[in-house]
Amino acid sequence: MDYDIIIIGAGAGGGTLAYALANTGKRILLIERGGYLPREKENWDADEIFLQGRYQAPEQWLDAQSRPFDPQAYYLVGGNTKFYGAALQRMRAEDFEDLHHVDGVSPGWPLTYDEFETYYTQAESLFKIHGQQGEDPTEPPMSADYPFPALPHEPRIQAVSNRLAAQGLNPVHLTLAVDRNVEQPHQSACIRCDTCDPYPCLLNAKLDAQTACVDPAVQHDNVTLLTNTQVTRLLTTADGRHIDRVEIATDRGLSTLSAQVVVVACGAINSAALLLKSANAQHPHGLANRSDQVGRNLMKHNHSALIAIAPAVNSTVFQKTLGIHDYYFNGPSQDYPLGQIQLTGKAKWQRLKQMAPTDMTQAWLEYLSKHSVDWWVTTEDLPRADNRVELTHDGKIQVHFTPNNLKPHMELISLLEQHLKELDFYLFWHQRMDLSVFWHQVGTCRFGTDPQTSVLDVNCRTHDVENLYVVDASFLPSMGAMNPTLTIVANALRVAGQLKAVL
Ligand SMILES: Cc1cc2nc3c(=O)[nH]c(=O)nc-3n(C[C@H](O)[C@H](O)[C@H](O)COP(=O)(O)OP(=O)(O)OC[C@H]3O[C@@H](n4cnc5c(N)ncnc54)[C@H](O)[C@@H]3O)c2cc1C
Ligand code: SF4
Repeated sequence: MDYDIIIIGAGAGGGTLAYALANTGKRILLIERGGYLPREKENWDADEIFLQGRYQAPEQWLDAQSRPFDPQAYYLVGGNTKFYGAALQRMRAEDFEDLHHVDGVSPGWPLTYDEFETYYTQAESLFKIHGQQGEDPTEPPMSADYPFPALPHEPRIQAVSNRLAAQGLNPVHLTLAVDRNVEQPHQSACIRCDTCDPYPCLLNAKLDAQTACVDPAVQHDNVTLLTNTQVTRLLTTADGRHIDRVEIATDRGLSTLSAQVVVVACGAINSAALLLKSANAQHPHGLANRSDQVGRNLMKHNHSALIAIAPAVNSTVFQKTLGIHDYYFNGPSQDYPLGQIQLTGKAKWQRLKQMAPTDMTQAWLEYLSKHSVDWWVTTEDLPRADNRVELTHDGKIQVHFTPNNLKPHMELISLLEQHLKELDFYLFWHQRMDLSVFWHQVGTCRFGTDPQTSVLDVNCRTHDVENLYVVDASFLPSMGAMNPTLTIVANALRVAGQLKAVL
């Protein structure tokens, strides 16, 4: 064997796993199709990020009608977390159980929240989470406090928070993975700038999968990272029960490598694509796909940006500090979950241009940017067998996706607008994110106890192939309405414990 373990994909799932196994002394190979994000001034340039898509994957996917689109995905060491908003949240305890929504049931997990809780605590420590316990009515039980105090709101946001609280809401401080020393800011790696969400951090002060996991993992002599190396297929033994070789493509052509254990962590869409691409005589419909579930049950959250304009100037620099979870499980006249609301990074005119309902001049967009407070509204979507990833005959990724559970999403937007109208906001525009915004892609290889209805067992090992695991966003059978990455990281830490025993 060339290695004890090969991990494919250096994002949230794969990077965390490499980090957690690094001190075992086992020979670990981490394979990443992208390279390191170049550190350059363009990292913080809104023109480059929003108008040019400078770092976006140079790839098109197809929708159900075979129309190509540009996915907002990032193939880099650190994966999509290089660009994430760093709001890392626990799912709520109830999200681990069947939860009734307008469009159906969000299925429960084969694990309870209590069984998972300890890994959330470890993940919060690894990603240096800043937060404040006790202000959120939906907060699940926690065995430890957040490692660092919450980032305080800037004056405009504190004023909004105070007035929302006066209406009876419970605005919370967002739980954030930024390396900010709140008490002694002059000693901080993070400068609390206006180009954080959704930009990469030029100072490496954002805890992402590269800075928190991959960089420390590769300090170990037993961990090797191969960048600019795409895994193209997994090859099995003749009986189909083990992965024998991992086929890689580099600028030197194709070659293969072997390991005792192989972990796929390419992100929900690419992990499914790799398994489907690896079909062979023993696995004619795709690797580990006896259940016909590989690629199915894709979810992405219902997301909308809500831009709220007031006469007052919003001079906030780092805006992503506030969330509202009061309507997570129900609303004033709704006995079903609506979702969560959070602020985004302060929208510059280029970001507003990207989602403006009509063609607006730069001067208008700049005016709106100066006066807006920018919100992000998220409602859970439900797993559907027909929402799936497939491959075309020439190997392209095709995504069949029909959104669901939109009624509560629109109700949540409307509720937020009503609250904001009672403040000084008078103009709103909301834009629901389209198919290209696959930021929260999950599902496609869900875990479960029944090999007929799930791809992975409870330890994220495939039911069908004994040395093959999937440890990224694919495993989630449902994801609540919270941002998914803390759960992906916590799960990778959990699986690392199982793998230590196997190895
Ligand atoms: C703009 C943006 C904002 C976001 N904000 C938040 C947020 O605030 N909070 C939150 O919780 N989540 C956020 N997310 C989502 C978060 O980034 C993802 O949940 C997380 O990165 C998913 O982890 P993963 O391991 O499944 O996939 P990824 O992190 O995407 O990692 C997959 C890796 O596999 C590599 N890869 C793919 N195919 C292959 C192959 N065949 N061979 C080799 N390597 C391969 C990819 O290049 C990538 O590096 C955001 C995402 C985006 C894009
Ligand atoms: S706010 Fe802090 S973590 Fe975010 S990009 Fe700026 S310096 Fe980096």
